[in-house]
Amino acid sequence: MAPPDPGASKPLLDIKNLSIELGPPARGRRVVDGVSLTINRGETLCLVGESGCGKTITALSIARLLPSPPTAYPEGEIWLEGKEVLKMPPAELRSIRGKVVSYVFQEPTASLHPTQRIGNQIGESLEIHRSSRATHEEVIHLLDQVGIPAPETRIRHYPHQLSGGMQQRVMIAMALASQPRLLVADEPTTALDVTIQAQILELLRRLRQQLGMSILMITHNLEVAGELADYIAVMYAGQVVEWGAARELLEHPSHPYTCGLLQSMPRLGTVKSRLTSLPGQVPSAGSFPTGCRFHPRCPVARQECSGSPPALDELHPRHLSRCPFARETSS
Ligand code: SF4
Repeated sequence: MAPPDPGASKPLLDIKNLSIELGPPARGRRVVDGVSLTINRGETLCLVGESGCGKTITALSIARLLPSPPTAYPEGEIWLEGKEVLKMPPAELRSIRGKVVSYVFQEPTASLHPTQRIGNQIGESLEIHRSSRATHEEVIHLLDQVGIPAPETRIRHYPHQLSGGMQQRVMIAMALASQPRLLVADEPTTALDVTIQAQILELLRRLRQQLGMSILMITHNLEVAGELADYIAVMYAGQVVEWGAARELLEHPSHPYTCGLLQSMPRLGTVKSRLTSLPGQVPSAGSFPTGCRFHPRCPVARQECSGSPPALDELHPRHLSRCPFARETSS
């Protein structure tokens, strides 16, 4: 019998008060500010927000994939399987990439090598010290696992011979090759049409169940997040502005930014003559507004909103909001 794993009861990923700066030392722009996130084993967390709000840079930091410099971590900790990633020596960092945490990126066409057969590209992601026959069999198994039909034939295909949905399945197969405990999927469905998007979400749901892995999914779409997430964290201007259990957050959104994102989305079964759009744009790092960073765009902003920055406070159990007026506005 295997000895009990002392880390099993701890969260798989525990990001504590993380800040990230980009640029020359002491003059870097703070792009992520005081972010805390937790993912337990087998859970899915979705990070939601517009482009430029800090989602991807937070996710890439989990395996320290950003060059340093110019990336710096002035505050915070990233605990992955009980080990502090920000203090890991390079050799240990290399050992967690792929094995503990693996990534699926948005554009498979940009990530797959156009002149290499997909079987070879997946094979390269497998651990070395395997015979070529064992690698071949494992690649076929992975293609089958991600729902690619006739994997014995497809293994010889080039990326351009596959549809966008099939290419994304190949990307997922590559990410699964080292059997990661945490799969980070960055906008995995954005470039796909709605039917294929639903199939990829179903695939991720099935793989999570079969393999017992955790998922961190990044998306700008709250509806997509609702399809997969146990928890949702909404980010704006480098901060988490709302966090909660997925159903609670979607049914009772509290922060005006979350409400704005929901109102700007077309929803099945709802008839709307016109979608509401959020006015303005996400401010760039280095020019975040004082006080509540959302106040220049907030439809219910008050005079005091440009004063002291609001804290991320508990609204209900398992529901936090960075708007002190959320209790008045939440349904
Ligand atoms: S603190 Fe003020 S500006 Fe910020 S979200 Fe709440 S109401 Fe809007």
